[in-house]
Parts: sequence; C-alpha cells; structure tokens
Amino acid sequence: MVTALGWLTLVALPLAAAALLAWWWQQERHASVRTAILCYHRLVVDDRAIGNSAAPADDEQGWVVTQAEFRSQIAALVGAGIPIVDLDAWLAARSGREPMARRSVILTFDDGYTSALELAVPVLQQYGAKAVFYIAVAPDAESHEKIAGRDSFLSADQIAELHRAGHTIGSHTMTHCLLRELDAEAVDWQLRESKSRLAKMVGAPVDHFCIPRAGGLPRHRRAIAAAGYLTATGNAKGTADLGHDLLRLPRHTVVRGTSGARLLRDLAPAGQVRARCAGELRRLASALLGPRLAYGVRQRLYHSPARHLLGPQQLATTLSFLGALWLLAAVAFVIWQLPCQC
Ligand SMILES: [Zn+2]
Repeated sequence: MVTALGWLTLVALPLAAAALLAWWWQQERHASVRTAILCYHRLVVDDRAIGNSAAPADDEQGWVVTQAEFRSQIAALVGAGIPIVDLDAWLAARSGREPMARRSVILTFDDGYTSALELAVPVLQQYGAKAVFYIAVAPDAESHEKIAGRDSFLSADQIAELHRAGHTIGSHTMTHCLLRELDAEAVDWQLRESKSRLAKMVGAPVDHFCIPRAGGLPRHRRAIAAAGYLTATGNAKGTADLGHDLLRLPRHTVVRGTSGARLLRDLAPAGQVRARCAGELRRLASALLGPRLAYGVRQRLYHSPARHLLGPQQLATTLSFLGALWLLAAVAFVIWQLPCQC
C-alpha cells in the first residue's frame, strides 16, 4: 500500500533527477565557447560615502558598483586572461571573420549615467578596454527622480566624447520606457527616433539596442529588427554562445559588493547556471505579476529582513540550498520507506 507521502516521493525523485540532469547539461553548455555580456548601470566613488550625495540608495544594490569594485573586476578579468572585446569585434568573430577566445567578456552600461563616464571610463582607459553605452536619449521624469541628487544623465557632448574614445554607443529608447506599455506606433518611434538622434550625435550608425526595464516581447524584437538594429540585449540572464539569437542576447548583471574574485566565480559554468536559475525566477515573477508589480515586490523584499537571503547575489545560493535540502529530504524519505529486512 503506497501512502500519499510515498506517491509524493515517487514524483519528487524523478523530478530531482531531471533537475540534476538539467543542471549538468547547463554546466556543459556554459563550458563551451561563451561570452559574458556584463551589465552595469551607475558607479559610486566609495560605499563608505554614506551620507554623501554619491551614496547609493538601498534599493540600488543591483544597479550600483563602487569604482574600487569595478577596478578589481577589470583587473581580475585581465589577470585571468579573459579578453574584454567590443560588441562589433564579437559580431565579426561570430561571422568567422576574426578568431574568438573560448571565454570573453563584453562590458555594457545602461541608461547613460554621468558616473559611468567619470568613474568607469578612467579604469577602462587604464586597461585599454572598450564598452558599450546604451543611452536613453531623453529619460522620463521617473528616471530622473530615481537618481535625483545622486547622479545625472550624459549630455550630447559627453556621448560624442565616449564615441570618439572608441566606445560603442547603443540605444536604450528615447525615454527609458516600458515597451509593453506602448502601442506599436509609439514603440516604433522610440526605436527609430533614438537611433537617428544618437547617430547624429556621434556621426556614425547606431546598430545596437538594449530593451529597458524587464525586457520585451517577441513583437518588440521584430520591431527592433525592422528599425535596423543588429543586436538587442534585455533582461535574459546567462552567457552568449556564437550561435545565440542576436535579438535576445543574455547578460550578467554585476551587483554591488562583487569583488574581482567573486566575478570570476560568478562567470564560471556553475555560477552562470545559478545566475540563470535566479534570472528565470525573476522573469517568471515579471510575467505573472507584470514588470511594475514584480519590481515593487522585489523592492519590498529588499527592505525586509529577507533581503539577507534574497539579494541579487544571495538568491542563487538560497535557491541552491533549498533545492539540495529538498533532494536530501526526498532521499531520506525513500530510505525510511524501504521495507525493513531485519
Ligand atoms: Zn535602463
């Protein structure tokens, strides 16, 4: 006679085995030729600067890194022999025109904050590295409010200066809008107007796009391609291989408190699988609740005691721990259920 708990175990064990198999397969996949597209937003001088206008708000732990952390991350990548490539070089390698290292990194900065120019660019110069800056041409009031007194948006001259220094300028829409809140005509305007305004600012074509806030839908990707962009990044997590869909390029968000050594661990295959699991969970929440509500829930959790378990870095570890606990409990239950031979 199989009890209800027995049935539960019978279902749980194959599921656990499937999860382990998926984990192993993902690790294998992440161990092939892959490029991590790192996602940054703002930088601050120092985390100890609390009380000073450059200090990050609590809800910014996923969006701000200190200059010292950034320097340590770039030094670690260079020290580990992981090349920092620019997006156009990566596209050339993808089409077989240039060789590609087994592991490489592309640096991207979203939104167009002055702090990225003032604090990240000097570090990039020091190491001879280039980055992609996704610019929201005329950010809306909500975007300005979020950084009021703490940062500002790049001017047209500063954007041109970044381009002259060899960095890539990409579009992040006109107003930093949520594409899924707009009709097709408005989406098209956001895509095309930002592309042409930025191209005029830098005197060169703008081929790369980044979908703001919690991603886009398949119809948005079709619109992005129709507007003439070659690539699009969004909120999908993970690393890109050479066959990846160019309009769904995944990224790895670098969060506050990430040392160089930690970044290397995060970019290793096991770290990438963990980050992907956490990212999919967020995407699921976003799909179920809508991006705004999901963001609100996340911010509430960041301000609750649960933040110690649910921070961007800890979430993956928490999930792995709960998964391992569940597996152990299932195995223990099966042993307990085995008929006694004594
Ligand atoms: Zn953004």
